[in-house]
Amino acid sequence: MSEKKQGKHIAIYGKGGIGKSTTTSNISAALADAGYRVIQIGCDPKSDSTTILRGGNDLPTVLDTLREQSKVKIEDVSAVGFGGVLCIEAGGPVPGVGCAGRGINAAVELLQELHLFEEYKPDFVLYDVLGDVVCGGFAVPIRDGIADRAFVVTSSDFMAIFAANNLFKAINKYAPSGGARLGGVIANSVQAPYAKALIDDFTGETGTSVVGYVPRSFTVSQSELYGQTVIEAHPKSEQADVYRNLAKYLDTNEDSVIPKPLNGPELKKWARTWGDRIFEVETGVVQKMESI
Ligand code: ADP
Ligand code: MG
Repeated sequence: MSEKKQGKHIAIYGKGGIGKSTTTSNISAALADAGYRVIQIGCDPKSDSTTILRGGNDLPTVLDTLREQSKVKIEDVSAVGFGGVLCIEAGGPVPGVGCAGRGINAAVELLQELHLFEEYKPDFVLYDVLGDVVCGGFAVPIRDGIADRAFVVTSSDFMAIFAANNLFKAINKYAPSGGARLGGVIANSVQAPYAKALIDDFTGETGTSVVGYVPRSFTVSQSELYGQTVIEAHPKSEQADVYRNLAKYLDTNEDSVIPKPLNGPELKKWARTWGDRIFEVETGVVQKMESI
């Protein structure tokens, strides 16, 4: 980006369905509640990143709008959500046609053309990005200096860890030439007795660290049914405090690292070790989780 960047630009990655949009929206809501100007940009062809900030209402995506009209104004592709968060959905290609990352490029280009960041003067811009890293398009926010830092949401499921490790590979590749660095790992849906230990061990192995543990909570499911964040629906809950602490971390902490991803055989070996440990716990060989 050539012009001076307004605000902190942070990308949140993770496997599909892992809780990126839920986590990002709750962080946005918490930041907005604390008085900050926030823009959340959904960079997932699913286009539902900001739904729970907007009472579950529809919002035309950037790609769909660009397909329909030659001149696009910011009002055409944005909506003001909870706490004043400006919500944008990049959108995706027609299913089965073209690169799924195209929406991200189109959205970023349009927002720069419209000088949104200079005019809106956000304190935070959060990019909610599908992180299975199957396509170079999804690396755009971390590759081209759009985001300063990336965070990855993972659970203790191996596929989520696998996707996180892939993101580490992408950061490792692009960070030395001006791409984003890793701010940290957000452990989501923490419930299984071994979940924390497993995620901590993975971060230890990859030179990264966990910046917050988000429990699996029914308050999230219930708030989602109302089309709301936990910050809006259950502001006094412990879960809301968890999201507020994450928001505070993004606000007050600038730490970042270049992760050391595991290669194929290393990841496989690491996974097998954990398979054995969990099996031992289940079969009673290990009586206490502390021994893990
Ligand atoms: P993604 O954006 O990564 O595809 P979502 O944020 O849409 O994932 O979350 C997928 C589903 O998981 C949603 O139904 C959401 O409410 C639920 N979910 C996410 N995080 C939690 C949590 N900590 N506790 C309970 N449910 C959660
Ligand atoms: Mg999502």
